[in-house]
Amino acid sequence: MKNTSLKFRLNLWYTILMIFLGICILGVVMIAAHTSQRSHAQQTLIRSVERNVDEIEIENGILDIERDFAYRNSGVYSVVFNSAGEKIAGDYPDGINPELELDRSEVRKREFNDVDYFIYDSIMKFNKFEYRIDGKTGEILSSEAEYAAMVSKFDGDLDIKTEECELSLREAFELVLQQMNLKEEDVLLTMAQIHDYHYNNPVYEIEFFTDKAGYDDVWIRGVMRADSEDSVWDTVMILAFILLPVFIGTASLIGNLITKLAYKPIETLSQAVSRISSGDDLNERVVTKDGDPTLLQLENNCNMMLERLQASFVSEKQFTSDASHELRTPVTVILAECDYQLSRDDIGPEERESFIEIRKKALNMKQLITQLLYFARMEQGKMRFDFAPNDLSELVSAVCGDVGSIAGRGIKVSAHIQPGIIFNMDASLMARLVENLVSNAVRYGKENGRVDVTLEENGKEIILTVSDDGIGISSDDIDKIWQRFYRADKARSGDEGCSGLGLPMVKQIAILHGGKVSVESEEGVGSTFKVEFKV
Ligand code: ADP
Repeated sequence: MKNTSLKFRLNLWYTILMIFLGICILGVVMIAAHTSQRSHAQQTLIRSVERNVDEIEIENGILDIERDFAYRNSGVYSVVFNSAGEKIAGDYPDGINPELELDRSEVRKREFNDVDYFIYDSIMKFNKFEYRIDGKTGEILSSEAEYAAMVSKFDGDLDIKTEECELSLREAFELVLQQMNLKEEDVLLTMAQIHDYHYNNPVYEIEFFTDKAGYDDVWIRGVMRADSEDSVWDTVMILAFILLPVFIGTASLIGNLITKLAYKPIETLSQAVSRISSGDDLNERVVTKDGDPTLLQLENNCNMMLERLQASFVSEKQFTSDASHELRTPVTVILAECDYQLSRDDIGPEERESFIEIRKKALNMKQLITQLLYFARMEQGKMRFDFAPNDLSELVSAVCGDVGSIAGRGIKVSAHIQPGIIFNMDASLMARLVENLVSNAVRYGKENGRVDVTLEENGKEIILTVSDDGIGISSDDIDKIWQRFYRADKARSGDEGCSGLGLPMVKQIAILHGGKVSVESEEGVGSTFKVEFKV
């Protein structure tokens, strides 16, 4: 995890958070859907049963279940029982017989034959009575009893009596009470009126409410399958399994986009820093154009660091330049002194040996100082160049001749040069470039080996290659050989002319001429250095 990118980690955490949130939301939705579905099923059951209550009455003393009574409605099976719990009408769904006590408490859930059922019982009390009485004869024409939830008290006149009537409404009411064995205080009169005429006799209609009438209660039981809620549950589950991956995928994509956007300024900063670090221009500064204070601070810190780096580079260059300059005189004096001493005949062989050695080292030092001065001047912009169209073929050929003539160790330098290649160049610098490459090839070549120098132009580029069959360069060293003072072959560090500054100079001269350098090498097999110039 530590090795993965911050962007990846951010995205991962974001996605995990989204998955967690998704699962939580889905869980809540599923529980809510389940509960609401369950309560919806139960509501249907209760409503169906309660609606059926209206369809049962006692007519003239006989229990009457009306035609509108729904034995099956919206998946609800209704069954009617008397107060003793005996079934009077209706049937249960196939294959079940819930021998459950009648109980008006709440919806119960029971399993029969591996299927869940909701069961709801409602007790029905006959508390509202309606009598029709012949106003002339006092005969009770009909009576009905049913259940009423709400009633309102009669506040009309009971002493109405029409001419053709023997009885007043009050007398008719008292007659009914007498018939039902009820006292006036046991009932609540809700309506009394002359309703109609029966064979020219007025008919009194009297309605009252009582719970003392003594009619047996009736029970209605509703039964419905509870698996309808399961099918919704299943649908929710299927939807969840489709929606969850879509949700997570989308969240991850959005997360990716957000992290990308949030990271953009950091990437700009990182690109700017790597551009500066890979280039040679320390004058460049980091600019992210972002208002974020942390980034702004990072940008400022980077720029301050560059500032300090630049300052130290400048002072380092100045020091190199000054030191090289100061060292030139003493080295010249040492060389002159050595030459003088060596010209004398009166010195012994041992002293001569010492002066020869001192002279050799002083020459090395002189070359090193010259190269250091060259770099310092070049970087300080103090170097003067003499660019002019020159015959590169001739130049390469001459250098190969010079180096080849002093190669030694049986090494043969062969030149394969396309004649007449004219290039706009500083001839002395270009000679130094070619000489460094060919000298290296000889220096790191094997005994009796060969060095091949080719120069050709293909219309777009001029390509110079210097190949040898020498010691080669290891893959660990190959990227470092262009650094100043880097020496892959430490054993030869004391050799004449070995300073570790040759290849950096080759690279710098090539860049100065708009070219680029590259190398291919295999340890123990040989190396090929290539310099390409645009025509
Ligand atoms: P030096 O003065 O030591 O030759 P250079 O900058 O010219 O410094 O080269 C740097 C290092 O690259 C050398 O020390 C040597 O190890 C390696 N090198 C350069 N040219 C060759 C070559 N033709 N074959 C093998 N190694 C080479």
